[in-house]
Amino acid sequence: MIELTGVSKYFGPFKALDDIKLTVRTGERVVVCGPSGSGKSTMIRCINRLEEHDEGKIVVDGIELGEDTQNIRAVRQDVGMVFQQFNLFPHLTVLENLTIGPIRVRKMEKAKAEALARQYLDRVHIPEQAGKYPAQLSGGQQQRVAIARSLCMEPRIMLFDEPTSALDPEMINEVLDVMVELAGTGMTMVVVTHEMGFARKVADRMVFMESGRIVEVAPPAKFFSDPDSDRARLFLDQIL
Ligand code: ADP
Ligand code: MG
Repeated sequence: MIELTGVSKYFGPFKALDDIKLTVRTGERVVVCGPSGSGKSTMIRCINRLEEHDEGKIVVDGIELGEDTQNIRAVRQDVGMVFQQFNLFPHLTVLENLTIGPIRVRKMEKAKAEALARQYLDRVHIPEQAGKYPAQLSGGQQQRVAIARSLCMEPRIMLFDEPTSALDPEMINEVLDVMVELAGTGMTMVVVTHEMGFARKVADRMVFMESGRIVEVAPPAKFFSDPDSDRARLFLDQIL
């Protein structure tokens, strides 16, 4: 579903991604971890072309990402993304935040878009918040709205970039629970997170990055108990 081969990315002279090779199969859940600045965000942002890679090849759902704007549009229709900051439209209600994409981009009828939106609000367990504005919700609720909003575009892949890092501790689980449920539906997911309980529960594979490189790829059982690299071991010692 996602294939990165020899992908490198520079910011000026600085090499933020260095010869990345990663394949994610349909329905697979990959959790990406590593120290701050190791290139985790840059890598997943390249998957939906929020960043352009400089070298190598990225193919998403059979479409190669390059200069072709039609390809970029096609990939973005396939790929949903949830960020640390929820990025909801503050002047729109929850329901409107969910329907604006389907109506504007998918040209869906309003009634149909609203039915879809309510279905996904149910899925993230906040159907009663449809008429509120983002500022009236807790952080955990806002992030669940952001997840529902992405799902309304019916993506085949969901990318998450530290979705719980901006949340108060007591709200982290309500968001992770929704993500675990999403994993249960068979969604292909790439999740940057340091929530290792979540990773153990859903990850098919752990990817550990450092200095723009993928240092280690392993199933969670192996990664957490007996990582091959000293760097991963050191990292786990620090966060666990
Ligand atoms: P992570 O998500 O693992 O914390 P990032 O992918 O955000 O790391 O960043 C990787 C490196 O690239 C960091 O050193 C960061 O400072 C640098 N970087 C990220 N975005 C930019 C940018 N827009 N311009 C310049 N440098 C950047
Ligand atoms: Mg990041």
